[in-house]
Amino acid sequence: MSEFGIQDIAKVVDTLEKDLLHPYMRRGLMFGHTDIEKIFEAIKKKQEFAVMTGIKPTGQYHIGSLITCNEVLYFQKHGGKVYFCIADMEAYLHSKTPLKEGHETAIDNIADILALGLDLKDSYIYKQSEEKEVLRLASIFSRNVTYNMLKGIYGEQAFGAYQSALIQVGDILLPQLGDYEGPILTVTPVGLEQAPHARLTRDLARKQYFRDLYGFKMPSFTFHQILGSLDGGDKMSKSAGSTFMITLSETEKTLKKKIPAIITGGRDTKQEQLKLGGQPEICRVFDLYRFFFTEDDNELEKRQQECKSGKILCGECKQDLFSRARKFIEKHQDKKESKVDLAKQILEEQ
Ligand code: SF4
Repeated sequence: MSEFGIQDIAKVVDTLEKDLLHPYMRRGLMFGHTDIEKIFEAIKKKQEFAVMTGIKPTGQYHIGSLITCNEVLYFQKHGGKVYFCIADMEAYLHSKTPLKEGHETAIDNIADILALGLDLKDSYIYKQSEEKEVLRLASIFSRNVTYNMLKGIYGEQAFGAYQSALIQVGDILLPQLGDYEGPILTVTPVGLEQAPHARLTRDLARKQYFRDLYGFKMPSFTFHQILGSLDGGDKMSKSAGSTFMITLSETEKTLKKKIPAIITGGRDTKQEQLKLGGQPEICRVFDLYRFFFTEDDNELEKRQQECKSGKILCGECKQDLFSRARKFIEKHQDKKESKVDLAKQILEEQ
């Protein structure tokens, strides 16, 4: 955290009233920030600010990407205008996804975020490939970025990957351009793996030349823990393959297959678990409860205690998870179905 200038969010959450906090802040899942105090002040004073986020249209939403969504919706609920980027250019440059294919996936992704509760009145949804100002910003920023800087952050990459990093900087600073909101506070919730990228964005935003040109305010970031894959891998991601993630399109049949296979912190035998208790701190099932499937902090605490004391066993814990996940996804799919036409319309009108 100190290497990337990330502050401990626990030290500032007390400045917000408890009912204004997101559960991730209370549970330490959102643990770091840069300049979040300014956003908290804006929330308290009901001042305008923008929330920046996006998705690479390379596949379905999975539950790992839902973490950022939940945070974005939280900031929107508390007054932020959402800038939602369909990162089709990044998908093209990084994953070689043709723009047309990215367009089709984007419809699905937008329907998802609408079903999750994005309020269109306070949102701007755009595709990178069509948003000339983002592409222009990326070109302008490139004058202050050297090959060695990019290599230091992202390692040896094809030039397209470096280009897409600059495009993302453009995304984050887009809301501050005169034709959009003008210089405004912005917050971008990300996983910790994005820390180097956040630093690059802030380094460019603070350059005197760009400040004089655009009057940028320093962009704020929040950092959350990353949800690992179902088999215990470090990150649930589209590239890890669908077997190791839960998508928002799971059916009862696929959930029945995936949930029993999730890695847990359970012991080798029932007797051992009754005696020693489970280990929720290394359990992916418990992670899913912490991030998504338990709203009430006391209930979460109770499950943790019951696990540690051996009062509940992994089978029943997974059965409960299955019921909750199934209910959530079923409800989501119903809502999503009614949003597909709207999602198409949004993209066509851009
Ligand atoms: S009882 Fe539940 S929380 Fe505890 S280790 Fe088993 S699956 Fe994980």
